[in-house]
Amino acid sequence: MVPETASFVDARTVRVGDQQLSGERILVATGSRTAVPPIPGIEDIEWDRPHQRLELDDVPESLLIVGAGPVGLEFAQIFARFGSHVTIVNSGPQIAARADTEAAGELQAALEEEGIEVVLNSGVDSFARSSDGITASVGGRTVAVSHVLLASGRLPNVEELEPDRIGLEIGRGGITVDDRQRTNVDGVWAAGDVVAGPMLTPIAQYQARIAVEDMFASSSSRRADYSALPTAIFTDPELGDVGLTEQRLWSRATTSVSSASVAVRHARANTSARSTGLYKIVFDRETRECSAYSGPRAASDIVGSITPP
Ligand SMILES: Cc1cc2nc3c(=O)[nH]c(=O)nc-3n(C[C@H](O)[C@H](O)[C@H](O)COP(=O)(O)OP(=O)(O)OC[C@H]3O[C@@H](n4cnc5c(N)ncnc54)[C@H](O)[C@@H]3O)c2cc1C
Repeated sequence: MVPETASFVDARTVRVGDQQLSGERILVATGSRTAVPPIPGIEDIEWDRPHQRLELDDVPESLLIVGAGPVGLEFAQIFARFGSHVTIVNSGPQIAARADTEAAGELQAALEEEGIEVVLNSGVDSFARSSDGITASVGGRTVAVSHVLLASGRLPNVEELEPDRIGLEIGRGGITVDDRQRTNVDGVWAAGDVVAGPMLTPIAQYQARIAVEDMFASSSSRRADYSALPTAIFTDPELGDVGLTEQRLWSRATTSVSSASVAVRHARANTSARSTGLYKIVFDRETRECSAYSGPRAASDIVGSITPP
């Protein structure tokens, strides 16, 4: 390994420090970094990136987290359990925006039960430094905290690669690739957070496997297909899912489609005596396509149909 920042010299060569490395094929997997939202006053306060929160000597007295995606939710629970007073602010109508609404609601209830304050449909309007910390204007009220953590989005690490040198196409959310992870430049592939699309570990791993197979296998027919990828948010309870959400199913459904959701007794709920969470299967009766959401729940068996809203 060469512990340096790489930038393109040409489509077969990168510069790393004072040396140049060449290869017939290049895979770009430079990941992402915290995006800084354009909130008035943000330049006047000190804020943290998630990885900085892992290197703290002291537990913050109070923490405002901007963004209720996987990163924001995991850190909210970690610091609430360490003893911080945590407020999480999310501009959208539900936490874990990509997740099933019902499952996200269960997770929100579990976090609130632990004392985490969740503010939805509201961004931070402005920040200001105060004598004993930071004040944030959130939906017309003032929230005073000792620390702020930004978790409202990530940006792909493309600038240092100097992509213009090889004419690498960069879209709105990252490097543009086809379903074999090929970029527009012959001999250059890309995978993971640096690619436009969801920034999640299972997706990065999946794309890397497809790219490497396409780069080196003599014949590869594998194409990226995101219709049934498992994802996970490592809170307690965890929120795991695979396939379409109920909301996505309805949004693409024709009038002839009918579906069912089923909540069933969850073996882990019985052993851990949890009262929150659900296990949910949503399936399209016509195509038999199926999705699942999981979390422990001590519930009696429920099997029922759901109808489109
Ligand atoms: C705090 C946090 C919590 C998360 N929690 C979850 C979760 O619960 N579930 C989930 O699915 N995902 C989660 N994610 C997302 C997950 O970590 C990423 O999707 C995944 O790490 C992406 O892998 P990657 O290899 O594309 O990029 P990375 O893991 O970011 O690796 C990219 C590497 O490239 C290096 N690099 C960058 N530019 C250059 C350059 N020019 N030259 C050389 N090297 C360079 C970087 O330093 C880095 O080491 C979380 C992310 C964060 C930050």
